[in-house]
Amino acid sequence: MSQPLESADHRDFRHLVRDFARAEVAPHVAQWDRDHHFPVDVVQKMGDLGFFGLTAPEELGGVGSDFTSLCIAIEELGRVDQSIGITLEAGVGLGINPILTFGTQEQKERWLPDLIAGRRLAGFGLTEPGAGSDAGATRTKAVLDGEEWVVDGAKQFITNSGSEITSLVTVTARTGTRENGSAEISTITIPAGTPGFVAGPSYDKLGWHISDTHPLTFDGVRVPADHLLGERGRGYAQFLATLDDGRIAIAALAVGCIQACLDLCVEYSGQRTTFGKPIGAKQGVAFQVADLATMAEVGRAMTYRAAALKDAGVTGPDLKQAASIAKLYTSEAAVTATRIATQVFGGYGFMEEYPVARFYRDAKILEIGEGTSEVQRMLIARGLGLPVE
Ligand SMILES: Cc1cc2nc3c(=O)[nH]c(=O)nc-3n(C[C@H](O)[C@H](O)[C@H](O)COP(=O)(O)OP(=O)(O)OC[C@H]3O[C@@H](n4cnc5c(N)ncnc54)[C@H](O)[C@@H]3O)c2cc1C
Repeated sequence: MSQPLESADHRDFRHLVRDFARAEVAPHVAQWDRDHHFPVDVVQKMGDLGFFGLTAPEELGGVGSDFTSLCIAIEELGRVDQSIGITLEAGVGLGINPILTFGTQEQKERWLPDLIAGRRLAGFGLTEPGAGSDAGATRTKAVLDGEEWVVDGAKQFITNSGSEITSLVTVTARTGTRENGSAEISTITIPAGTPGFVAGPSYDKLGWHISDTHPLTFDGVRVPADHLLGERGRGYAQFLATLDDGRIAIAALAVGCIQACLDLCVEYSGQRTTFGKPIGAKQGVAFQVADLATMAEVGRAMTYRAAALKDAGVTGPDLKQAASIAKLYTSEAAVTATRIATQVFGGYGFMEEYPVARFYRDAKILEIGEGTSEVQRMLIARGLGLPVE
């Protein structure tokens, strides 16, 4: 791997995460993937090392570091296993950040210390059976009844939402109708175990077998009025802001996937011999590996530029554009990279005993989660001033 231009602190941190992933994740990951096992103990070790608190302030138990560090952690974990990478990405980006960004001091003190320490996890429920890309079409509704919200509806595909250490999910819900007829959407936090809130069985997914994903139903769920997160009616703006950061973090996960493909192919093409020479001596193979290195470099540059903008306090259109471009490029490059890696491994690449098969299955969701490639293209085109619908 070529040396990224990063500070000595970032470099040291990268090595710490890399060592952790090699020691604690790599030896077990194939078995966990086969068993669809969510390794709570590893999540909690990540918590002990401060990974979940990287961007949280020290007074809440966080590390008070920067967004770049979070991206480094996600990339290095994702280089060993994408599910472990997404568990951290969603734990911070979707679990902690909405409360950290929009919560009151009292809400932060109530919910965040356990999440920041990695003792518990939280999910963010935006997607519904009829509302994914069109997230404003949310049907889940919340009605204020005295001092309580009564929530009814359903969410689907929600990460970290039903594990044995999940403490809550934050959901978007319609809390009324505006004068112009559009939905008023607000964000409400629902603790696990609240009567009427059920996390259904884990999905049988193509990839991300080690990640925790559930459908959720809410049937007359009652939570105190102070579980409203931020201002009533600001839910739409809140999730848009949440997704900007999330897209940069997903780009970091995709860079980890591309780098893994590169690592595996460099090693394999030096070992595997055909026609009396290593396959790396054939241009047809070597050029594909060179393409992997190029994708890793370009993807890393875009991702850490977007992270640096975020760390510099840039918000609004410039950050959105950088986040969408990084997410679009890296997720599509990761899918291409896993296809190339599987090809370089030949028939062995199709066998589950080789990690390229797992990366091949895991990569596809990168083009779908936190805004599909089509949605990113739509946002990028709009950012250019085009009147695309
Ligand atoms: C494993 C996994 C984990 C997830 N985790 C979470 C989570 O933690 N929280 C959460 O809220 N959601 C989560 N999701 C949901 C994910 O964000 C959505 O699946 C995604 O946003 C797409 O929504 P959809 O599935 O409803 O597809 P749809 O919106 O129905 O899209 C179907 C197709 O139509 C295309 N399309 C839709 N609208 C347009 C348009 N205007 N222009 C062009 N093309 C368009 C899409 O790009 C796509 O190709 C997760 C999904 C998965 C699979």
